[in-house]
Amino acid sequence: MTGSWEHRGRLRRLGGICPATVRIVDERTRPAASRQQDARFLRDDHDLEARNAILDAALSNMFQGLAMFDAHQRVVFANDRFAQMYGQTPEDVRPGTPLRKIIEHRVSSGIYVGTTVDEVLRRMRERVARGTVSHMTARMGDGRTISVSIMPRPDGGWVTTHQDITERERLSASLEEQNARLADQHELLDAALENMLQGLVMFDAERKLVICNMRFADLYGLAPDQVVPGTTAQEILQHRIGNGCFQVNDSEGLLASAWDGEQNATELEELADGRVVSVARIRLANGGCLLTYEDVTERQRLNARLADQHALLREHEALLTAQNLQLDAALNNMVQGLAMFDTQYRLVLCNRRYREIYGLSAEQVKRGTTLREIIEHRIANGLDANRTPDEIVDAMLRRRQDASFEQFVSELSDGRSIAITVQPMADGGTVTTHQDITEQRRNEAKITYMALHDALTGLPNRVLLNERLEHALARSRRGELVAAHMLDLDHFKHVNDTLGHAAGDKLLKMVAQRLRALVRETDTIARMGGDEFAVMQVDISQPADATTLAARIIEELSSPFEIDGQQVVVGTSVGIALGATAAGSPEEVMRNADLALYRAKGDGRGTYRFFEEEMDIAMRARRDLEMDLRRALPGSEFELHYQPYVDLATNEISGFEALIRWRHPVRGLVSPGTFIPLAEEIGLIVPIGEWAIREACRTAAQWPEGMRVAVNLSAAQFKNTGLVAVIADALARSGLQPGRLELEITETILLQDSKDTLAMLYQLRSLGVRIAMDDFGTGYSSLSYLQRFPFDKIKIDRSFVKDIAESAGSLNIVRAVAALAQGLGIATTAEGVETREQLATIKAEGCSEMQGFLFSRPLPADEIERLFLTDRRDKGAGTNVAA
Ligand code: C2E
Ligand code: CA
Ligand code: CA
Repeated sequence: MTGSWEHRGRLRRLGGICPATVRIVDERTRPAASRQQDARFLRDDHDLEARNAILDAALSNMFQGLAMFDAHQRVVFANDRFAQMYGQTPEDVRPGTPLRKIIEHRVSSGIYVGTTVDEVLRRMRERVARGTVSHMTARMGDGRTISVSIMPRPDGGWVTTHQDITERERLSASLEEQNARLADQHELLDAALENMLQGLVMFDAERKLVICNMRFADLYGLAPDQVVPGTTAQEILQHRIGNGCFQVNDSEGLLASAWDGEQNATELEELADGRVVSVARIRLANGGCLLTYEDVTERQRLNARLADQHALLREHEALLTAQNLQLDAALNNMVQGLAMFDTQYRLVLCNRRYREIYGLSAEQVKRGTTLREIIEHRIANGLDANRTPDEIVDAMLRRRQDASFEQFVSELSDGRSIAITVQPMADGGTVTTHQDITEQRRNEAKITYMALHDALTGLPNRVLLNERLEHALARSRRGELVAAHMLDLDHFKHVNDTLGHAAGDKLLKMVAQRLRALVRETDTIARMGGDEFAVMQVDISQPADATTLAARIIEELSSPFEIDGQQVVVGTSVGIALGATAAGSPEEVMRNADLALYRAKGDGRGTYRFFEEEMDIAMRARRDLEMDLRRALPGSEFELHYQPYVDLATNEISGFEALIRWRHPVRGLVSPGTFIPLAEEIGLIVPIGEWAIREACRTAAQWPEGMRVAVNLSAAQFKNTGLVAVIADALARSGLQPGRLELEITETILLQDSKDTLAMLYQLRSLGVRIAMDDFGTGYSSLSYLQRFPFDKIKIDRSFVKDIAESAGSLNIVRAVAALAQGLGIATTAEGVETREQLATIKAEGCSEMQGFLFSRPLPADEIERLFLTDRRDKGAGTNVAA
């Protein structure tokens, strides 16, 4: 080791100024020239000393650590800071100290961690070898961070500087962290702003935009470039006005008022498009202003609706209260009793009527009273005698278990009937209604009875009979018969007409009584209407059982009745039809009995007849005839034939009787005897008769002056009040002189409603028409009829004329009638004169006219014309019969 480090101060000075100019000299190798130079240095020593002192002070007071190493990795120079930074003394780093020793110290003292001495030395060598300045930071075991710079020197050594940057590092780290936090917050704020439902705007004190969010721009349709920071509030408002956000035209006013509001305020802004925006303004401490905008259109609408609903609710409430009152009133004024029970069959409520029906006091029907308690009260009131409360409650509960609507009638012990409905409620409770139907039931029974019974006799009527017959037929066992007896009284009409309706009614009651005595309990007697009765005889085994009863009925009803002290004799005919299980419907059985009755009456009164098959056939034939007859008039199938009648005093024809004929397309010429009775029965006689009248008048009007025409009238035609008008019209239309028309009526006309009939006869008479009594002697033949009306003519029935030669009775009648007529100044016509003897007799007996085949049969009108009238016209005189 040489004294090359002789002047420590000088070396230190050199290293500190400029590494490139410092020359570290080895005295042994230094050339002579350089030694001369040193001498020169020493000459300027006092100069250098001063500079060294300054450098020394500078190096020692450097903040950085500084050291210079030579190519052998030994310290050339190091300042105090260099040692101190690594926990060493200046002695530890004095010139000549090997780098290894320094590093070893650092590693062993824990200042260098995570590395080895060799590693550190190796890296150092590498850096120096690079020949360029390199920097690195190293973290110390004690947490400090030291920034190291290495500046290699051309001689293989290096200068290194060390600076403790721990504090700087820490500061910059915390700064970074703060920055990051700020950035995060910024981001969050941004997100919050953009995701706000409200629009948000902030202005600074100069009313310039600081920030606003998208929502704000969207609300007012502002473009992004219209809301850049710095834009004035005024400008933004202008844009909003320009977008037509406001309805107002006064933008000046709007602009003026926009900023001048109260300190903090919230107000509603109504936009032109109907939106409502709630604007909240907050003055900021820095003189700026924060505004939030919220579209509350929907909320406003909801609020309005809510208000509406609220009002509605209140209205409903009021209504409900009113309804409750009404309901209460209704409940207590109901005709029906009403009671409501809960699931435990405890009373919830009941009305006044309910209490009345069951005689319950208000105390007894308090809310919560059990069903059983109510029943007990009812029993105490004697309404449910013979039953225990348990029985009744059990029955009720069983009924209510089905949980469906139910209706039944409860019969109370006091005779009242209560109709009860049980209606389960949704909540498990029950509503019951109670109606006293006692009276209604009585009325119903009465109505039912009336519907099925004849009021006068109290007998079942046709409906009930039919019902019972149907049952009887359905029930009857094999071999059992049911007999239906139809009967109608003979001469009942006569009794009614002569003794009055009251007497008739009495008679009908007595008939009912007698019939009752004849039949068994199981049989049924019915009044079918008028003087018609029916008896249903059940459980008989043979037809003879029916005839026995029929015979007894006839016998019983034939014996005289005493009515109001008068002896009245009626009689009856009976038609019987037998029914058995297989034999037809009740209607059929009754119709058969009717047919049998019809036959019985036809066969002479006071008899019974069983229904026979031919009756049915006859009935069908009749029906066919009826159908044909209905078509005859519209089909113009009728014609009139005329039979002359002759005045016996002059032997001249005084007129012709019109006799109707039916020219049927299949049946041929049908005589009136076949169809007139049917036409009368079915009422068709009225139009047919009218046709005959008009036709006869029309024909007779063509005949010579004085020649009469006689037209037959049925009793049925007199029931039609239009008859007189028809005749008057026929006369007027034909121009026939009324005195030339003769109407032939029979006694039966006078039998019916004689008052009206007589009135009509007088009316006809007043027209100037002649009235003849036809078929005299066949009916009741009471001479008194002749006195009732002043007939113009009496026609003695053909039957008397026919028998006149053989029967003294007939001769006597002809004689009497002729005499009577002569006395009354009435003409008499003998009908059906077929022989000269007959003619002679009637002439001798004083008849004034004759009519019959002897002189002429009825002939068609043209025949009549040809045979009797042409001739007469030619001669201009009457037709002399005798000639
Ligand atoms: P009627 O009024 O007694 O008429 C006389 C009937 O005796 C006629 O029968 C006639 O042809 C018949 N006759 C006349 N002379 C003789 C005779 O010498 N010997 C016999 N055996 N018979 C003679 P017709 O034409 O068959 O009329 C039967 C009945 O029909 C009439 O009896 C009359 O009651 C009724 N009739 C006829 N035309 C009409 C009419 O237009 N209207 C109404 N309501 N009844 C009519
Ligand atoms: Ca006649
Ligand atoms: Ca006659």
